[in-house]
Amino acid sequence: MSEEVKPESVTLYPVSAAAAPEQEAVCIFGTGDLGRSLGQRLLQSGYRLVYGSRRPHSCGPIPPGAQVMSHEIAAQSANLVFVCVHREHYDFLETLAPQLKGKVLVDVSNNLKKNMYPEANAEYLQRLIPGAHVVKAFNTLSAWALQNGPSDANRQVYLCGNSPEAKQAVAEIATKLGFAVQDRGSLAAARELEDFPLQLFPEWRLPMHLTIGLTAAFFFYLLAREVIYAYVDEGKDISFRIMVSLANKVFPIVSLILLSLCYLPGVIAAVLQLYRGTKYKRFPDWLDRWMLCRKQLGLIALALASLHVLYTLIIPIRYYVRFRLAAHTISQIRENKTSVFDTTMGWRTDSYYSMGILGFGLYVLLGISSLPSVSNALSWREFSFIQSKLGYLTLFFCTFHTYLYGWDKFLRISYYKWYTPPGYMLCLVVPSVVLVLKVLLLLPCVDKSLTRIRQGWERTDPEDISKKSLLT
Ligand code: NAP
Repeated sequence: MSEEVKPESVTLYPVSAAAAPEQEAVCIFGTGDLGRSLGQRLLQSGYRLVYGSRRPHSCGPIPPGAQVMSHEIAAQSANLVFVCVHREHYDFLETLAPQLKGKVLVDVSNNLKKNMYPEANAEYLQRLIPGAHVVKAFNTLSAWALQNGPSDANRQVYLCGNSPEAKQAVAEIATKLGFAVQDRGSLAAARELEDFPLQLFPEWRLPMHLTIGLTAAFFFYLLAREVIYAYVDEGKDISFRIMVSLANKVFPIVSLILLSLCYLPGVIAAVLQLYRGTKYKRFPDWLDRWMLCRKQLGLIALALASLHVLYTLIIPIRYYVRFRLAAHTISQIRENKTSVFDTTMGWRTDSYYSMGILGFGLYVLLGISSLPSVSNALSWREFSFIQSKLGYLTLFFCTFHTYLYGWDKFLRISYYKWYTPPGYMLCLVVPSVVLVLKVLLLLPCVDKSLTRIRQGWERTDPEDISKKSLLT
């Protein structure tokens, strides 16, 4: 007698293939890099995949589980077709117009340059096959990113198209693949999407140009004042100081100027609002652009300040410093002399280092809080407290650090070689102006007016009032 064995788990569907849920079919034209990576992800997400290829029998490797057919047959097997072919080869699609009628065509193409063609690739595709619903999507992802799956930085799929249903179908696939979808509107937005991958750090351009310009200007200024001056005036070759001493002067100088340039536009905006008596008038374009790149300016300033810290840490192990120290000690021993401890100097140097350390600590905090993952976790009040209040405190510490470095040298004529001030004196101009203006803006009478303006209050022009009274 056979014993009945009870199954431990219950299958919800009978195991027969006929009753298995039908997999949705998707077609990809082109078995190249993007076609393969996209296909692999589609298969992993549970789609049935059919490739359309010029050479169905001899195309390159394709993901296991996919089928390869001619374009005509492949187009008939799915309602949605990804066109993973370069725009230059789109002409062959015209012959497939009957098979592609009513289908959703996803244009993933990019160009090598902006404005290469009079119309966007997706609009061109729509013109070639008017009966299909073209959707521009997935072009901002690389084959590599698709293969590795969505990561934090690459989770977005932008799409645009004229048919809401077609966009919905593409959005569903993108969501299933693990991407967040952003609808950018009609097919007219395709050119904008095609320009996305061609962008080269647009928001970093102005800060980078400024950094390179300031670094070059201060480098040559200090080279002339220190190295060339020593050679011409004293016949000494101190060119070796270019590598560490000069670098350790240029980097903090540019860093402090950039940090103050993060706060100067805010001060200018406040002065403009006070002058105009309203917040409802647009700022000039240059001020808008300047405000938009403050984060990048701050991050570059932080990078340069970090270099200053590293260069400062290696000072005691430098050959030149060790040589000078030993020579000084030996000469004191020979002359049987002892230096007297200078308490003022002790205070000055300790305060100078302390201000520098505090300034750098806050600098790092500002940098960390500007990271999207951190700033997203902060409330607006917390974020503006760090970036504004602590930001000004950072600027104050760093400026004070530089004043302490200068100490009494500001008044000593021997430091003005060739009648030019040292670099650190020049770099104090902008931060000092920003801090003084900020203090003036914080005066209760000024602060009160500014707060009222920022809450929507507007100063009325006496001329307007007299005109109005004349009219009434
Ligand atoms: P690819 O590796 O060169 O593959 C293109 C495929 O197009 C070929 O494998 C071929 O497939 C097909 N093809 C080539 N010449 C053809 C012709 N004369 N007529 C018909 N089909 C032809 O290019 P890809 O890197 O995959 O890029 C494909 C598209 O995706 C491009 O428009 C590109 O701008 C866009 N894109 C690529 C990436 C990326 O990371 N690679 C990222 C975003 C967007 P068959 O031999 O199977 O026919």
